[in-house]
Amino acid sequence: MTTRRRFIEIMPLAGAALLAACGEKKAAVPEPSAPAPVTVPAPAPSVAAPAPATAADPAAAAPLDEKSEKAVGLGYVSDAKNADTTKYKTYVAGQVCSNCALFQGKANDASGPCPLFAGNSVAAKGWCSAYSKKLT
Ligand code: SF4
Repeated sequence: MTTRRRFIEIMPLAGAALLAACGEKKAAVPEPSAPAPVTVPAPAPSVAAPAPATAADPAAAAPLDEKSEKAVGLGYVSDAKNADTTKYKTYVAGQVCSNCALFQGKANDASGPCPLFAGNSVAAKGWCSAYSKKLT
Protein backbone atom coordinates (compact mmCIF):
# COMPACT_ATOMS: atom_id res chain seq x y z
CA MET A 1 0.00 0.00 0.00
CA THR A 2 2.89 2.27 -0.46
CA THR A 3 1.33 3.69 -3.57
CA ARG A 4 -1.91 4.61 -1.78
CA ARG A 5 -0.07 6.27 1.07
CA ARG A 6 2.16 8.09 -1.35
CA PHE A 7 -0.94 9.30 -3.27
CA ILE A 8 -2.50 10.66 -0.07
CA GLU A 9 0.72 12.45 0.76
CA ILE A 10 1.04 13.98 -2.68
CA MET A 11 -2.58 15.13 -3.20
CA PRO A 12 -2.47 18.25 -0.99
CA LEU A 13 0.77 19.30 -2.63
CA ALA A 14 -0.64 18.66 -6.08
CA GLY A 15 -3.76 20.69 -5.25
CA ALA A 16 -1.66 23.57 -3.99
CA ALA A 17 0.49 23.40 -7.11
CA LEU A 18 -2.60 23.41 -9.30
CA LEU A 19 -4.03 26.43 -7.51
CA ALA A 20 -0.73 28.24 -7.83
CA ALA A 21 -0.60 27.45 -11.54
CA CYS A 22 -4.11 28.75 -12.05
CA GLY A 23 -3.30 31.88 -10.13
CA GLU A 24 -0.25 32.50 -12.29
CA LYS A 25 -2.29 31.90 -15.44
CA LYS A 26 -4.91 34.34 -14.30
CA ALA A 27 -2.28 36.92 -13.60
CA ALA A 28 -0.92 36.39 -17.11
CA VAL A 29 -4.19 37.53 -18.67
CA PRO A 30 -3.77 41.14 -19.70
CA GLU A 31 -5.95 43.61 -17.91
CA PRO A 32 -8.58 45.23 -20.10
CA SER A 33 -7.52 48.64 -21.22
CA ALA A 34 -9.32 51.64 -19.88
CA PRO A 35 -12.33 52.66 -22.00
CA ALA A 36 -11.72 55.44 -24.44
CA PRO A 37 -13.10 58.76 -23.30
CA VAL A 38 -16.50 59.47 -24.76
CA THR A 39 -16.72 62.62 -26.79
CA VAL A 40 -20.09 64.22 -27.15
CA PRO A 41 -20.54 66.01 -30.47
CA ALA A 42 -21.68 69.57 -30.27
CA PRO A 43 -25.36 69.94 -31.10
CA ALA A 44 -26.06 71.04 -34.64
CA PRO A 45 -27.60 74.43 -34.99
CA SER A 46 -31.33 74.02 -35.10
CA VAL A 47 -33.17 74.84 -38.28
CA ALA A 48 -36.80 75.69 -37.96
CA ALA A 49 -38.83 73.11 -39.85
CA PRO A 50 -41.90 74.31 -41.65
CA ALA A 51 -44.95 73.78 -39.52
CA PRO A 52 -47.30 71.10 -40.85
CA ALA A 53 -50.70 72.21 -41.97
CA THR A 54 -53.27 71.89 -39.27
CA ALA A 55 -56.98 72.13 -39.09
CA ALA A 56 -56.49 75.56 -37.57
CA ASP A 57 -54.52 76.73 -40.57
CA PRO A 58 -55.85 74.97 -43.68
CA ALA A 59 -54.59 77.64 -45.99
CA ALA A 60 -51.00 76.76 -45.07
CA ALA A 61 -51.04 73.66 -47.25
CA ALA A 62 -51.07 73.85 -51.01
CA PRO A 63 -54.34 72.74 -52.60
CA LEU A 64 -54.22 69.17 -53.84
CA ASP A 65 -53.74 69.00 -57.59
CA GLU A 66 -56.42 66.77 -59.10
CA LYS A 67 -53.94 65.64 -61.72
CA SER A 68 -51.29 64.55 -59.22
CA GLU A 69 -50.64 60.84 -59.02
CA LYS A 70 -51.97 60.51 -55.50
CA ALA A 71 -55.15 62.41 -56.35
CA VAL A 72 -55.80 60.39 -59.50
CA GLY A 73 -55.20 57.19 -57.54
CA LEU A 74 -58.16 57.92 -55.28
CA GLY A 75 -60.27 59.71 -57.86
CA TYR A 76 -60.07 63.02 -56.02
CA VAL A 77 -61.86 65.96 -57.58
CA SER A 78 -61.99 69.44 -56.11
CA ASP A 79 -65.70 69.59 -56.94
CA ALA A 80 -67.70 66.49 -56.06
CA LYS A 81 -70.04 67.18 -58.99
CA ASN A 82 -67.16 66.13 -61.23
CA ALA A 83 -66.68 62.74 -59.56
CA ASP A 84 -66.24 59.93 -62.06
CA THR A 85 -69.47 58.07 -61.35
CA THR A 86 -68.68 55.51 -64.01
CA LYS A 87 -65.51 54.47 -62.26
CA TYR A 88 -66.63 55.19 -58.70
CA LYS A 89 -70.10 53.79 -58.30
CA THR A 90 -70.03 54.39 -54.54
CA TYR A 91 -70.38 58.13 -55.07
CA VAL A 92 -73.71 59.50 -53.90
CA ALA A 93 -74.79 63.10 -54.46
CA GLY A 94 -74.16 65.15 -51.34
CA GLN A 95 -70.92 63.43 -50.45
CA VAL A 96 -68.24 66.10 -50.11
CA CYS A 97 -65.02 66.41 -48.19
CA SER A 98 -66.58 68.73 -45.63
CA ASN A 99 -68.92 65.97 -44.44
CA CYS A 100 -66.31 63.22 -44.68
CA ALA A 101 -64.95 61.76 -41.45
CA LEU A 102 -61.39 62.35 -42.65
CA PHE A 103 -61.78 66.05 -43.37
CA GLN A 104 -59.88 68.02 -40.74
CA GLY A 105 -60.98 71.50 -41.64
CA LYS A 106 -63.59 73.46 -39.72
CA ALA A 107 -67.26 73.38 -40.71
CA ASN A 108 -67.14 76.51 -42.85
CA ASP A 109 -63.61 76.23 -44.21
CA ALA A 110 -63.33 76.21 -48.00
CA SER A 111 -60.53 73.67 -47.70
CA GLY A 112 -58.75 71.66 -45.08
CA PRO A 113 -56.26 68.93 -44.44
CA CYS A 114 -57.01 65.29 -45.14
CA PRO A 115 -54.67 62.61 -43.79
CA LEU A 116 -54.82 60.76 -47.09
CA PHE A 117 -53.19 63.71 -48.80
CA ALA A 118 -50.74 64.89 -46.18
CA GLY A 119 -49.03 68.14 -47.10
CA ASN A 120 -51.94 69.34 -49.20
CA SER A 121 -55.38 70.69 -48.50
CA VAL A 122 -58.51 69.32 -50.08
CA ALA A 123 -61.51 71.37 -51.13
CA ALA A 124 -64.48 71.28 -48.78
CA LYS A 125 -66.71 70.59 -51.78
CA GLY A 126 -64.25 67.98 -53.12
CA TRP A 127 -64.55 64.23 -53.04
CA CYS A 128 -62.48 61.09 -53.37
CA SER A 129 -63.22 57.37 -53.43
CA ALA A 130 -62.13 57.03 -49.78
CA TYR A 131 -65.07 59.13 -48.67
CA SER A 132 -66.51 58.04 -45.34
CA LYS A 133 -69.56 59.78 -43.93
CA LYS A 134 -68.78 61.85 -40.86
CA LEU A 135 -70.74 60.65 -37.84
CA THR A 136 -72.44 63.45 -35.99
FE1 SF4 B 1 -62.19 64.38 -49.09
FE2 SF4 B 1 -62.70 62.42 -47.38
FE3 SF4 B 1 -61.47 61.90 -49.69
FE4 SF4 B 1 -60.18 63.18 -47.75
S1 SF4 B 1 -60.95 61.08 -47.68
S2 SF4 B 1 -60.22 63.75 -49.92
S3 SF4 B 1 -61.81 64.43 -46.86
S4 SF4 B 1 -63.56 62.67 -49.44
